[in-house]
Amino acid sequence: MKKLIAGNWKMNGSLAANEALLGALAQGLAVKPACEVAVCVPAPYLAQVQALKSAKPALSAIDLGAQDVSAQASGAYTGEVSAAMLKELGCRYAIVGHSERRQYHGESDALVADKARAALASGITPIVCVGETLAEREAGHTEEVVKRQLAAVIHANGHCISEIVVAYEPVWAIGTGKTASPEEAQAVHTVLRAQLKAATDQSARVKILYGGSMNAANAATLLAQPDIDGGLIGGASLKAADFLTIIAAA
Ligand code: PGA
Repeated sequence: MKKLIAGNWKMNGSLAANEALLGALAQGLAVKPACEVAVCVPAPYLAQVQALKSAKPALSAIDLGAQDVSAQASGAYTGEVSAAMLKELGCRYAIVGHSERRQYHGESDALVADKARAALASGITPIVCVGETLAEREAGHTEEVVKRQLAAVIHANGHCISEIVVAYEPVWAIGTGKTASPEEAQAVHTVLRAQLKAATDQSARVKILYGGSMNAANAATLLAQPDIDGGLIGGASLKAADFLTIIAAA
């Protein structure tokens, strides 16, 4: 399967900065990459990035993604953005259950599962994030935590489960410069792969990305692991040269 390198810009960017970043990416992607590429941008910039994609042929190699999606279809939900809206703006992906949403917005496993279901119902691929905190890892609970988080999504999405992307993002590795070692990451990916296999006979189609301080220097060894099918890249996706190096490593 082709690997997927997805940038997660988080709450960064501006009209001018986005245009500069995508201009630099377009130059670097003049030769079509071997992997799939996506950028998950702040909602207000989805239309801008979609317009830049239409204007610059080299950017057709980049799929558009959102960083969150509502679990609701429409109605009185102030501040929410529906999956149908994301679809209309050209999104292929929506991140759901990022640890920053779980932590700062109190998103539960059940809500994340509903968001994944709402995305799938509108033809958007949810990138479902799972991952343990440092305290959970130190207490030996890593496996239990990621399995519980993924189980909720499997339970709510039944036969559609082969349509999701999973991202293993240990919370202690996000934005900290502390990456999981390739072996540590692979060990968790093996657990997630087995769980998906038990849930669907199509599990071989499900990409499992690693995220958490993946960068230009460590991407190649992480991506060489048998069950690491790509990366969800935060900080390093904001620098064109670094993001392009990671894409080339995939
Ligand atoms: P990071 O973020 O690459 O900056 O660690 C990854 C993420 O949170 O998706």
